[in-house]
Amino acid sequence: MVLSELAARLNCAEYKNWVKAGHCLLLLRGCLQGFVGREVLAFHRGLLAAAPSLGPRAACRSGSRCSPRARQFQPQCQVCAEWKREILKHHTNRNGDIHWGNCRPGRWPVDAWEVAKAFMPRGLADKTGPEECDAVALLSLLNCCDHFVVDRKKVTEVIKCRNEIMHSSEMKVSSMWLRDFQVKIQNFLNEFKNIPEIVAVYSRIEQLLTSDWAVHIPEEDQPDGCEHEAGVYLSESQVKETEMELLKEKLQELYLQAKEQEMLPEEILNQLEVVKEFLRNNEDLRNGLTEDMQKLDSLYQQPPKTDSKEPGAQTSEGKA
Ligand SMILES: [Zn+2]
Repeated sequence: MVLSELAARLNCAEYKNWVKAGHCLLLLRGCLQGFVGREVLAFHRGLLAAAPSLGPRAACRSGSRCSPRARQFQPQCQVCAEWKREILKHHTNRNGDIHWGNCRPGRWPVDAWEVAKAFMPRGLADKTGPEECDAVALLSLLNCCDHFVVDRKKVTEVIKCRNEIMHSSEMKVSSMWLRDFQVKIQNFLNEFKNIPEIVAVYSRIEQLLTSDWAVHIPEEDQPDGCEHEAGVYLSESQVKETEMELLKEKLQELYLQAKEQEMLPEEILNQLEVVKEFLRNNEDLRNGLTEDMQKLDSLYQQPPKTDSKEPGAQTSEGKA
């Protein structure tokens, strides 16, 4: 383990803020998973009770022809058509984008989570439960499904912050931004006064955000156990885990944006270059992200040109 690299990174206050903010998202995800899992089952049961024709005995008759793609879904059988109508009835964003491509409609009668994914952002087709989802997936579900009785403005404020964290090209946020984030999280958590496990996480978030978060890097002559001193919040392996999760999510986001061509290739490449430069200086994080970087790189690899060389093209290829 290369400790000095972590120490150097955390020397930059704004980067440390960024990692802290990311750790809050992990805590948020952790405290929402159980609640969301239970509520999704209750929502599904409620749908079946109100419309028994949607239940387990209703089977899609069209097999692969009832396959959604991205935001498109044209049901080819009556069961899927009825399910689609029912989902739309409960969707607070029914006139906007719905990522039907997340779902396997044939599973709707028997699998509550396949229904839940119609209320979530793109790219979640392979997620089979709340424990596999990140914070923004769960927050979007709370926001978009009318089963959840919650002040939606407070949910969208947190989603907005999450997007700012992920889209921060320099991977930095200011201390003022972090304080604002803390208020928004508190407002959000206050919506769940009856759910002890959600309320409980606030004190941990508060402790994290207000602590100096000094991570002790043991030196050769320091006795063991110094990392348990007052003021230390996370161990270095916990910090690194957070960094890794954040960077993975950021790269995945970039990948989806690139794939759906929501940003100009130059913008994506610029952001990618920032991450590459960062990883070049931080070998300890680089190894765990090779696959994610390759996935992104492969989107931009052009077939080799045979006849002409492009004089202007700067493809600064870093070490893999
Ligand atoms: Zn069908």
